[in-house]
Amino acid sequence: MTLARGYAASAAKERLAPYSFERRAPNADDVAIDIKFCGVCHSDIHQARDEWGGAMFPMVPGHEIAGIVTAVGANVSKFKVGDRVGVGCFVDSCTTCASRDVDLEQYMPGLVQTYNSVEADGVTPTHGGYSDHIVVKQGYVLTISANLPLDQAAPLLCAGITLYSPLKHWRAGPGKKVAIIGLGGLGHMGVKIAHAMGADVTVLSQSLAKQEDGLRFGAAHYYATSDGATFTKLAGQFDLIINTVGAAVDWNDYLQLLKIDGTMTLVGVPDAATPPVNAFRLIGSRRSLAGSMIGSVKETQEMLDFCGEHGITADIELIDIQAINEAFERVVKSDVRYRFVIDMKSLAA
Ligand code: NAP
Ligand code: ZN
Repeated sequence: MTLARGYAASAAKERLAPYSFERRAPNADDVAIDIKFCGVCHSDIHQARDEWGGAMFPMVPGHEIAGIVTAVGANVSKFKVGDRVGVGCFVDSCTTCASRDVDLEQYMPGLVQTYNSVEADGVTPTHGGYSDHIVVKQGYVLTISANLPLDQAAPLLCAGITLYSPLKHWRAGPGKKVAIIGLGGLGHMGVKIAHAMGADVTVLSQSLAKQEDGLRFGAAHYYATSDGATFTKLAGQFDLIINTVGAAVDWNDYLQLLKIDGTMTLVGVPDAATPPVNAFRLIGSRRSLAGSMIGSVKETQEMLDFCGEHGITADIELIDIQAINEAFERVVKSDVRYRFVIDMKSLAA
């Protein structure tokens, strides 16, 4: 066992505070990682505040982890000391069921999340990346390209893959019109990745305040959803809409922006009940309403390699860990451009 230092929530809605806990010594299949940076995902806030129910405390959040390998177990062949690596939203999964064979392990009931979860033994709590080091089975560790700065690459481990996976599944690319709702952590990665895939990208944001950034990230068009004319002007335009909003917006307004056979995919998790979907919004144009959750280990590595090839990283605000509670407040107010990332050397301060 080694002592880890981090920040934890001790109960729902409590401020995060310094917390020490034990990590296992690396087993034969494990990789030990010195965590250099960890992104602050809106899901960290939902879970630390127990907005989804079933939260386990004390909770050390963080699933956008970037760091350097410090030790490897005897069976580890993929990694060596000094490698630049990432860890995303899960650290283990069921290895026997069929989903693993088709690289969809993120949808399996046996998934062990990086934090707010228990390991395969059913009792040991998992703790995430708001901490100085982590020990993870090699099959759940990702390689980060040498050309991507680790701090800006950290958010790819959740925000990046959460947008890459549906963009790829619903075939964003040349000739496709894609809209991203919400220019936050997930949304800004979606704009960059969809643009790199060759799609014609539109941002649907609450206001035009971040328009310049959206266009810089690769959007060709930018509209404010607070302006009712947006919904008339864009009716029937899009092949694919990805909704990254974590609040209860009325999906009917957005469904009418899809073409015939268009799909709206939810990745944001609403914090309250949404108005019922009007069946005519779907039936009238053979549209689909879908959902998507992160991506498999294989697809996450594919996304990291894609981002390496295209030089795609997150736009970040680097913070000390002591500022985490204020960062949470600012994320909730949509006041971040575009991802807070914790510089873990601040833990030593
Ligand atoms: P975020 O940085 O807070 O971004 C969300 C964006 O949504 C905001 O920047 C804002 O964009 C827009 N928004 C916020 N409140 C709104 C409201 N009341 N009405 C309309 N738009 C609003 O959060 P994030 O980290 O990107 O995460 C977004 C959601 O995805 C969260 O619910 C999170 O839990 C979820 N998530 C899901 C997955 C998955 O696998 N499916 C993975 C990670 C996160 P504008 O200012 O541009 O309007
Ligand atoms: Zn996340």
